Amino acid sequence: GAVGGCLDATGCEYEKFGVKLEEAVPRTHWAKATPDNTANSGPELFDPLKACIDAQSTIEAVYETALKRLVTNADGVVVGIEAEGKNGTEFYKANKGVMLATGGFPAGLEMQERFCQDALDYATYMSDVCTGDGIKAAMGVGADLYNMCNYYPIEVAQSYHYNVQYNDVYHSWNMDKEGYMEVPAMNLAETHGGLAINADAQVLDVWGQPIEHLYCSGCDTGTNIFGIPGNYPGCGCYVSFSIAFGRIAGEKMATA
Ligand SMILES: Cc1cc2nc3c(=O)[nH]c(=O)nc-3n(C[C@H](O)[C@H](O)[C@H](O)COP(=O)(O)OP(=O)(O)OC[C@H]3O[C@@H](n4cnc5c(N)ncnc54)[C@H](O)[C@@H]3O)c2cc1C
Repeated sequence: GAVGGCLDATGCEYEKFGVKLEEAVPRTHWAKATPDNTANSGPELFDPLKACIDAQSTIEAVYETALKRLVTNADGVVVGIEAEGKNGTEFYKANKGVMLATGGFPAGLEMQERFCQDALDYATYMSDVCTGDGIKAAMGVGADLYNMCNYYPIEVAQSYHYNVQYNDVYHSWNMDKEGYMEVPAMNLAETHGGLAINADAQVLDVWGQPIEHLYCSGCDTGTNIFGIPGNYPGCGCYVSFSIAFGRIAGEKMATA
């Protein structure tokens, strides 16, 4: 549980959050680091998943192509997406379903202005492309929203050690060659608001009914497990949204 909005899981640096080490409860699993990683910080979780995807002949990853809208049939069933690719508008058909996972809106100022104005006081060190596109696309087909004005603010400057590969992705980070970086005070991490879903990761409409063939995982989901803004119950809470609901949605779509 949360102790004054702090981390309480093994592997974290408790004291900077005001929690004594002896109060902490061990509950975190760490992925085994690969030899080329400079820090225990993500690729060891992601790379095995990507290797599984690469090994499937039926999955094609498409890059530099942004979701814009969902496409539905006359019955309101999601049947595909409209996207913006390198050569303009593209459409992708989805026979079994669409899972939204665009990372919430930590960099989405327009979305924050509408739903979570307190967050505008913060800069963000999250990816600058996480502007709430998935949430907006789902709103376009009648999705309900949940807990939109909740987020994780970092009030006090913090030092982190990450894998230097991250800098290839997040150019905005001020990371040194060893992977150390400072997150300045008044930084917004994850947003907690997003789409209302059920236990099958299906997106719900404003009447609480699933929108057929529409799923969601990660920070595009609306959650209340963090309670008030500032709470962070434990390490890994955020990636667990992606993994847990991504897995559930994947299973549902595969067997649809
Ligand atoms: C420095 C840092 C440290 C962190 N440490 C931890 C930690 O220790 N433990 C933890 O649990 N969490 C941690 N997090 C948070 C965690 O990484 C995120 O909450 C999690 O990755 C969110 O997963 P997601 O699948 O919702 O979105 P993301 O992993 O953010 O992925 C969203 C993806 O959607 C793409 N996208 C956005 N818009 C579109 C669009 N319109 N069309 C197509 N694609 C789009 C983005 O490019 C991105 O690839 C950390 C985050 C950062 C930045």
